[in-house]
Amino acid sequence: MLFGKILHLSTSYTNFEHRQIIDINMSANEKVHCLIIGSGPAGYTAAIYAARANLKPVLYQGMQPGGQLTITTEVENYPGYPNGIMGPQMMVDFEQQAQRMGADIRWGMVTKVDFSSRPFKAEIDEETWIEADSVIIATGASAKWLGLESEQRLNGHGVSACAVCDGFFFKGKEVAIVGAGDTACEEALYLSKLCSKVHMLVRRGEMRASKVMQARVLKTENIQIYWNSETAEVLGDDHVTGLRIRNTETGAESDIALSAFFVAIGHEPNSSLFRGILDMDEQGYLITQPGTTKTNIEGVFACGDVQDKIYRQAVSAAGTGCMAALDAERYLGAMDLH
Ligand code: NDP
Repeated sequence: MLFGKILHLSTSYTNFEHRQIIDINMSANEKVHCLIIGSGPAGYTAAIYAARANLKPVLYQGMQPGGQLTITTEVENYPGYPNGIMGPQMMVDFEQQAQRMGADIRWGMVTKVDFSSRPFKAEIDEETWIEADSVIIATGASAKWLGLESEQRLNGHGVSACAVCDGFFFKGKEVAIVGAGDTACEEALYLSKLCSKVHMLVRRGEMRASKVMQARVLKTENIQIYWNSETAEVLGDDHVTGLRIRNTETGAESDIALSAFFVAIGHEPNSSLFRGILDMDEQGYLITQPGTTKTNIEGVFACGDVQDKIYRQAVSAAGTGCMAALDAERYLGAMDLH
């Protein structure tokens, strides 16, 4: 499927004309020094550094140009924006900065890769192939959602998949979180320091999280756990006003009045393209050599959330994007390719 082309028609947040020109100019059988796959903070930062190092990077934006930040509202924890910034606008800023440095930012999905020989090869939109001396993977991760209509409708209006990003907006209020892994526990603890009360929905009679995290949650007074409970509906017309929960054993439903609903049921790294090609852990996160962005294939680097299941912040993703560009530059220099 040609996601890049479909996004031409469906997206609204950024400029069409520029992209259409670039699509037309794109030739088949092109060869570049540095191919960047993905357009979140990691990919754009890699593009800024690679462009300034004269690697003439070409970046393919993928299915969701701008990445996860385009579905958040205000970002207050990214240094350099003293008054905060809307997530989509921040990603437009990143993109424009990369372009100003000379990065070639393109619409399109990388639909296949071949890293078995050099130069590396990547298929674009199932149509054309591009060759690259080095590749930086910044395909990110996607939050998992429950799949409720009300959850989707109120996303960004009190429904969030990131407590660290959005918890602050609900300071002193009652909120709920669903999930029972380490992320849910960590986020519940984070919220408990900001919010008056945290209602935590656990779908089974036990948690998956590590014992130490569970113990911390259990002894936190303003976290109330609802065992064997699932989300029936998020309540509210234009913002969250409550939650309807269902006991999975009795089927009984009850409503809780609250201001925000955090979903913390896991993330999926966007790494399926590299399965069987690059080393990844059992959850699909790409494995990089400690302290670097090097994958198991020399010349292929990974940065941002596709290789980070712990921090997952825009600023840490941008940091590893910078590292990936520096690693690529050194690799190309050492190989006499640049
Ligand atoms: P996990 O996959 O570990 O946990 C997901 C949780 O969400 C599970 O409790 C699961 O329930 C629950 N869940 C899934 N689907 C639903 C649903 N539809 N309705 C309700 N609940 C649902 O994801 P995490 O993001 O928590 O962690 C991912 C990895 O990252 C783990 O290995 C974790 O240890 C690690 N991590 C480590 C941290 C650290 O070391 N500081 C911090 C954060 C994460 P169930 O148990 O019933 O399947």
